[in-house]
Amino acid sequence: MSALTFPILQVLSDGKFHSGEDLADRFDVTRATVWNAIQHAENLGVEVFSVRGRGYKLPQAVDMLDEQVVLTAIGEQRAWFNLQLLDEVDSTNSYLMKQAAKGAPHVTCVAAHIQTSGKGRRGRIWVSHLGASLTFSLLWRFNCGAAALSGLSLAVGVALMRAFQQLGVQGVSLKWPNDVLYDNKKLAGILIELQGDMDGPSAAVIGVGVNLRLPEKVLKRIDQPAIDLASIGVGVNQGELLGTLLRHLAEVLRTFEEDGFVALRAEWLSYHVYHNRPVRMLMPDGRDVHGTVRDVAEDGILLVETALGMQRFSAGEISLRTGT
Ligand code: ATP
Repeated sequence: MSALTFPILQVLSDGKFHSGEDLADRFDVTRATVWNAIQHAENLGVEVFSVRGRGYKLPQAVDMLDEQVVLTAIGEQRAWFNLQLLDEVDSTNSYLMKQAAKGAPHVTCVAAHIQTSGKGRRGRIWVSHLGASLTFSLLWRFNCGAAALSGLSLAVGVALMRAFQQLGVQGVSLKWPNDVLYDNKKLAGILIELQGDMDGPSAAVIGVGVNLRLPEKVLKRIDQPAIDLASIGVGVNQGELLGTLLRHLAEVLRTFEEDGFVALRAEWLSYHVYHNRPVRMLMPDGRDVHGTVRDVAEDGILLVETALGMQRFSAGEISLRTGT
């Protein structure tokens, strides 16, 4: 790991050429040290063009997270947040789960420019890339136990939808239990991990990944249809997006802890892409159950009308797919 890698990436984030000599002078190091720092960036999957006589350059300008921009977008509640912006981490969720176990305060948010092992549900992978995606996790401590948090990932979806609406993002919807879709392609994902006692208190680490501008190479690594904000004409600053999401998350989580998912249920249903539509439920034993989505219960359980009558599905081991 080179301590210079991220300061250099910060300089290169303007998308212009910077000579090795200029970078070496700026950080008072040798050109070989600059080269080593750039190698480390490449080992992290960041593409850096190196052209003899001109220097180093990123393929395009990159919007790096700026703490002040994030805090301004959070607004009046900003003092409440313990915000940590990391250059590089394995997974913001894994990191924050460890911090939570060591006593990190309520409303700690960790965002990272690069995640080297981003996680999805059930051991799946979340693909992200420098400047191409926003990845962060938020720690929320609850007095109740983990057993009472079953509707939480749906509540988080409501917060994401409100934030997207505030930013003028049109045409997005939710897919039970935890994805944000545009045109049936995944724009953002949510991963919630819990710790604490079943009957309380408990802590939730809420991980969110939002695609901003995925290079073609990165898109190819994702094994299902995915989309980014840039492709749907939204060019929001990464810090503004993070602050807006945090502001809405805090509001929704307060509603959730006071009144439960029931207070958000009607709104969630209005965003559900498969409401009253035919679906397939992919069961853990490999079976597919076909039916039509009819409702969601107060604990986030999906109600699907099947040949056997109304069946209830909890998120844990089940995936939902379109039935057409
Ligand atoms: P489920 O319906 O069970 O939630 P899922 O396939 O959406 O299924 P998640 O665990 O929510 O699973 O998300 C992980 C999956 O998301 C990965 O297996 C991959 O298919 C997809 N994925 C990974 N990175 C991205 C990304 N940056 N953008 C969109 N989709 C992604």
